[in-house]
Amino acid sequence: MTVARGVALLGATGSIGRQTLDVLRRSGEAFSLDSVAAGRGHLAELVAIAREFGVRRVGVAHEDDVEQVRRHLGDRVEIVVGEGGLAELAARSEIVVNAVVGFAGLPVTVAALAAGRRLALANKESFIAAAPLARRLAATPGAEVLPIDSEHCAIHQCLASSTTPGYPDVRRLILTASGGPFRGWSREELEGATKENALRHPTWSMGPKITVDSSTLMNKGLEVLEASALFGIEVDRVDVVIHPQSIVHSMVEYLDGSVIAQLSMPDMRLPIAYCLGYPVRLDHAWGALDFTSSHTLSFEPPDHAAFPAIGLAHRAVALGDAGPAWLSAANEVAVESFLHDEIRWADIVPVVTTTLERFEDGPLNSVEDVVAHDGAARREARRAIGGRS
Ligand code: NAD
Ligand code: MG
Repeated sequence: MTVARGVALLGATGSIGRQTLDVLRRSGEAFSLDSVAAGRGHLAELVAIAREFGVRRVGVAHEDDVEQVRRHLGDRVEIVVGEGGLAELAARSEIVVNAVVGFAGLPVTVAALAAGRRLALANKESFIAAAPLARRLAATPGAEVLPIDSEHCAIHQCLASSTTPGYPDVRRLILTASGGPFRGWSREELEGATKENALRHPTWSMGPKITVDSSTLMNKGLEVLEASALFGIEVDRVDVVIHPQSIVHSMVEYLDGSVIAQLSMPDMRLPIAYCLGYPVRLDHAWGALDFTSSHTLSFEPPDHAAFPAIGLAHRAVALGDAGPAWLSAANEVAVESFLHDEIRWADIVPVVTTTLERFEDGPLNSVEDVVAHDGAARREARRAIGGRS
């Protein structure tokens, strides 16, 4: 009999969280869900998940939420609170799925790696902001990072063709992007982009933050940084190509000109299952392609003039180690502000640009350093927003 592998699912009630639960439901005895956590406002769903899966540990965002969870689940579950609680849960399971959105996922990434766990990473923001630290922690015995982000999961699979550590035989990584809901819009047309347009993604159904990031192409800028941080490949060797069908999830070009790609229908349950099972492939074909019907695949270069976010990500790297933390924090503030109708869609990337102009360098060796840079960037982003309204 095989022993079930323990899983902590942190950010269990979101888009990635729910799809991870789907994979677990279909995986029978292979995995056991040990721990779940969510942010504020998702308690009823969290309790329902804990009941369904017989979860032993539950993380809530605030002390005030403990009582309600205790009332529903009784004394048989352990309840932990806040950032410290997330870190505790992340340190205790064999596999840790970081499905929290935004910088709030940092304690999960850090604690899972420091404890030598498998980190199944959806939360790109934490890895980008803490890249030098996260890479160091990933060298902890037992620690490994498996990317859930579909492009990076594709690259992880395509890099299996590389025969040399450090990938000297790789010319470049090629990230695909759907182009989002505004593909083909001119700069003038984009001035009138609305929240309703921005939240309607053509190929993926995701949480609101990443859906907005996809509409500005900031998601792709963040993903260039994520790819560089995950695989140790300079940003200049990470290219982006627009591929509206979202079937080729990304590619690796080798020195001899060979390009290896990974294909499937857009379904996040495939990369989630890959990260849970690796190196074993789980036996349910999420997103399998049907070649009895026809598919057309097209590729085009991004329009950098209309969508400057990818260029901004390169600029952030040139600023220094903490540049990516500033970019990601400023973007998070701008997107929140857009979702609260405080700024227009067309203001999001300019707010990030202004924030980067006020970048202040400093060391990035510890969690405290990362948090300090994040805080400084948020203050500057709010100032930039104040200057616009
Ligand atoms: P979402 O908004 O749907 O869900 C976010 C989850 O995080 C929720 O469970 C929420 O309760 C939880 N959360 C928020 N703040 C928290 C806190 N302080 N403490 C604990 N939990 C907290 O977001 P999503 O779309 O599932 O995205 C999650 C992450 O995965 C993001 O980093 C995103 O970029 C990445 N990602 C998502 C997709 C996708 O298809 N949705 C694809 C690739 C990458
Ligand atoms: Mg992605």
